Amino acid sequence: MKTTYLDYAATSPLLPEAKEAMIRVLDGMENGQIGNASSLHYAGQNAKNIIEDARKNVAQLIGADPAEIIFTSGGTESNNTVANIFRGQKIAISSIEHPSMLESAKAYAGKLAILPVDEQGIVQWQQIPEDADLVSIMLANNELGTIEPITEVKKRCKNYNTFVHSDATQALGKIHINVKELGIDYLTISAHKIGGPVGIGALYVRKGSAFKPLLLGGHQEDRRRAGTSNALLAAGFGAAAKWCWNNWSCKKYLQIAKLRDELCKRVLNEVPYSSLNGFEKAENGNTLPNILNMSFQAAEGESIQLYLDADDVIVSTGSACAAGDIQPSHVLMAISGDAEVAHSSIRFSLGLDTTAEDIDHVMAVLPKVIKRLQEISTIKIKEPK
Ligand code: PMP
Repeated sequence: MKTTYLDYAATSPLLPEAKEAMIRVLDGMENGQIGNASSLHYAGQNAKNIIEDARKNVAQLIGADPAEIIFTSGGTESNNTVANIFRGQKIAISSIEHPSMLESAKAYAGKLAILPVDEQGIVQWQQIPEDADLVSIMLANNELGTIEPITEVKKRCKNYNTFVHSDATQALGKIHINVKELGIDYLTISAHKIGGPVGIGALYVRKGSAFKPLLLGGHQEDRRRAGTSNALLAAGFGAAAKWCWNNWSCKKYLQIAKLRDELCKRVLNEVPYSSLNGFEKAENGNTLPNILNMSFQAAEGESIQLYLDADDVIVSTGSACAAGDIQPSHVLMAISGDAEVAHSSIRFSLGLDTTAEDIDHVMAVLPKVIKRLQEISTIKIKEPK
């Protein structure tokens, strides 16, 4: 049976366009045509041109000026960079940020305010402290898909001259993003969630917003990020961004939202003691079109994942970053406060290649897997109220 890959939010398959762009760079590196982008000679300038071309494509996808894009090693570094700018100052974040934001804010903030979320994962932006120097709220949550009200966050922060950052790692390519319309200061993105390579991301820094490099010791990226520029990965990222732009990926995801909503409905109807974490309908636009998080009473997330894997269905438990971690997901704890719900959850994340047959495949195996696990579990099932 064909494998049904529903773990696009962990990483998405490399787009052929990104692969080809990188092969061209590798060929050039092999034959000495592509060198160090900081060098003035021909091979250096070839590398520089590749990087600047990629910067334009990435900038275009989020409505930024190319000069406002700093290439980093990924979403993690972009988030750490923003927290580091506000070292010793007051930072406010939501309780469901990605660990790379949560942990860096905890490490660097002089004072930290953690804002609660409601049961769908929407941040209580009304509680943003007036004296925060930075507010960081993700555009969409990686475990639930919930889209945060960044426009409201920005409106409130405008009154207090607070800088605003948003982690758009999961939202990129799935929903329309324009940094000028959002009016925010910083935006985190990553290549491997849109079919680019792992190991490269970017940080958008609005012209004039506070900045301090995280990595020191080099003039690269206009003195904003030290380290030899990576033409290979930039070419892959640029090609993936260009593909998303040219192919209206956000529009294509409207079809994927229908599959996601159909899967949600079928799981709730066909799998006993299942429940939803987050919003039911992506078609309404308050959650990403491709992420669906569900819990199954008396069935442990990791076991579900392994059983499904044996049946050629690939999913993740909450967040791949938390895999192997015995702590319940902080996101599910924040919305439900229930460790059992958190431990019994799995995340389905769809991509543009997902089909109705994939949903049928899941529904052919999932009910049996859950039934088997519930039968051998010592946890007592609670009848829904
Ligand atoms: N932020 C979010 C919301 C993410 O989902 C991820 C990846 N799981 C990251 C940041 C980290 O991105 P990267 O893997 O590029 O470091």
